[in-house]
Amino acid sequence: MTKHVTHWIGGKPWGGAAERKGDIYDPATGAVTGSVDFASASVVDDAVAAATKAFPGWRSSSLTKRSGVLFAFRQLVHEHRKELAGLISSEHGKVASDAAGEVARGLDVVEFACGIPHLLKGGYSENVSTGVDAYAIRQPLGVVAGITPFNFPAMVPMWMFPVAIACGNSFVLKPSEKDPSASLVLARLWAEAGLPDGVFSVVQGDREAVDALLVHPDVRAVSFVGSTPIARYVYKNATAAGKRVQALGGAKNHMVVLPDADLDLSADAAVSAGFGSAGERCMAVSVLVAVGPVGDELVGKITERVAALRVGPGSDERSEMGPLVTAAHRDKVASYLDSGVQEGATLAVDGRLHPVIGGEAPGFWLGPSVLDHVTPEMGCYAEEIFGPVLSVVRAPTYEDAVRLVSENPYGNGTAIFTNDGGAARRFVTEVECGMVGVNVPIPVPMAYYSFGGWKSSLFGDSHMHGTEGVHFYTRGKAVTSRWLDPSHGGVSLGFPVNR
Ligand code: NAD
Repeated sequence: MTKHVTHWIGGKPWGGAAERKGDIYDPATGAVTGSVDFASASVVDDAVAAATKAFPGWRSSSLTKRSGVLFAFRQLVHEHRKELAGLISSEHGKVASDAAGEVARGLDVVEFACGIPHLLKGGYSENVSTGVDAYAIRQPLGVVAGITPFNFPAMVPMWMFPVAIACGNSFVLKPSEKDPSASLVLARLWAEAGLPDGVFSVVQGDREAVDALLVHPDVRAVSFVGSTPIARYVYKNATAAGKRVQALGGAKNHMVVLPDADLDLSADAAVSAGFGSAGERCMAVSVLVAVGPVGDELVGKITERVAALRVGPGSDERSEMGPLVTAAHRDKVASYLDSGVQEGATLAVDGRLHPVIGGEAPGFWLGPSVLDHVTPEMGCYAEEIFGPVLSVVRAPTYEDAVRLVSENPYGNGTAIFTNDGGAARRFVTEVECGMVGVNVPIPVPMAYYSFGGWKSSLFGDSHMHGTEGVHFYTRGKAVTSRWLDPSHGGVSLGFPVNR
C-alpha cells in the first residue's frame, strides 16, 4: 500500500482525479512510497477562488478571534509535532531530531504571530492641525501565495503563513513536490483550530501550479523560497503581473576562522553546520575560510570529527546525518568531489567511502566530504552544492577573508570565529551578507527578527517573518480626520498645511 497526497481546498482534501502525478520517495531506501497529485491551472483557480471567497470574512474577524485561532493552531502543531517530524524524515531523509527541530522553529513563528493584536498597532497623532487628527493602520492584502522548497517542508511554509493569516489574508501554499505530506497535516490542523474554510489552501505540484499562481489576477503577493534561478524567475514574472514579491534564493555560506579562534570550537561548529541535515540547509556552512596559518590544524580536527559521524536512516535513533533527497541530487553533489579534484583541490575526506548504518542500503547516500585547498575559480566554490561537502579556502589575512565573503554573489549567511571582539565587530559592520554569526555557525534569526539574505539570495525588499513579514503581508494606510466643529467654514484651494 502506498500513500496518496492531494490538495487541500476550501477546508477539505481535494476529491478530483489528477491529470498528472509525481512519485514520493523514501530517500533512506530509494523506494517509492506514494504519489502526489500535481495541480493544473484549473485546480489553482479553484484554490484561489476559495481563498478569495474566504477573505472578506476573515479580514473582518476581530483580532481576538484571529489570535484565538492562532493559539489553538499552535497547541495542535505542538501536539502533532512527532507525526510531522516522522513524515518529514520519511520523505526528506533528515534525522528525526533535525525534523523535530524544524517543526519547533516553525512553531516559533506561530507564537510570534499569536501576538498579532500588538503587531498591527498603528500610530495616532492628535491635533496635527487645529482639530485634525492623523493615524496609520495596516490592512491585509487579500489572497497571498507561498511557494516553498524541499529542504524545510514544515518550517519554511511556517515562516510565511502564520504571519500572513494573522494579518487577515487568505493563503495558498504550493509546497515542494518532493515532500508534500507535512503541508496537508498543517492544513488539517488549521481546520481543527477553527480557521474558516478557504483561508488556508494547499495546491501540490510543479511548475504548472507555480506559473498559474504567478499570473493569477486575484493573487496579490507571492512569497518564494528556493534556488536562485527559480527565485529570479518568480520575482520577474510575479512582479510583471503586478504582485508584491519576496523571493529568497540559494546560498554559499562562508565561515571565517581567525588565527586567534578556539580551533576545537571552530571545528565542532564547522562539522555541525556543514553536515547537519546532510548540508541541505540554506544556512549550512559550505565554505570554511581559514585565515593565516590555521588551515592544516583545522582541517585535521575537522577530519577527525567527520570520521566519527554516524550516517544512517532518519528513523534510526543512532543516525546523525541522513541520505540526500533524491538520487539525482546525490549524484550531482558527488560530482563536485571529482570536478574539485580535477580543478586542483585536495579531497581530504571522501564521503563516498563513509559507512552507512544498516549496511549497503540502496538509498540516496553520500557521506560527509571535505575538499581542501579550494580556490574561488573552482566550480565547487562558485556553485551552490547543497549537500554534505565542505570546501576549505585558505586566506592570508582578515581583509582577504572579508573580501572573499563580500564578493561572493550570494549573501545569505556568514559567520566569524574569533576571540577578538574588535575583529568580530568590524566583520559584522563590513561584510555584505544578510545574516551574520559571531562564534555562532548557523545564525538563523529568531521569529521576532526577520530572515533573509542579500544579493542573489534575495529578490525583493522584504525578509520573512518578524516586523518585515508583517509589513510584507499588509499595506499601510494613513488617515487624516476632522470632526466638524462650529469653527469650520470656507472653501480653500490652497494645499493643506498645518496650523
Ligand atoms: P527549487 O528552486 O528547485 O524549488 C523551490 C520551489 O519552486 C518548489 O516548490 C518547486 O516545485 C518550484 N519549482 C522548481 N522548479 C521550478 C520551475 N522551473 N518553475 C517554477 N517553479 C519551480 O528549490 P529546492 O531544490 O526545492 O530547494 C533547495 C534550494 O532552496 C537551495 O538552492 C536552497 O539554498 C534554497 N533555499 C533557500 C532558503 C533561503 O532562505 N534563502 C531556504 C531554504 C532553501
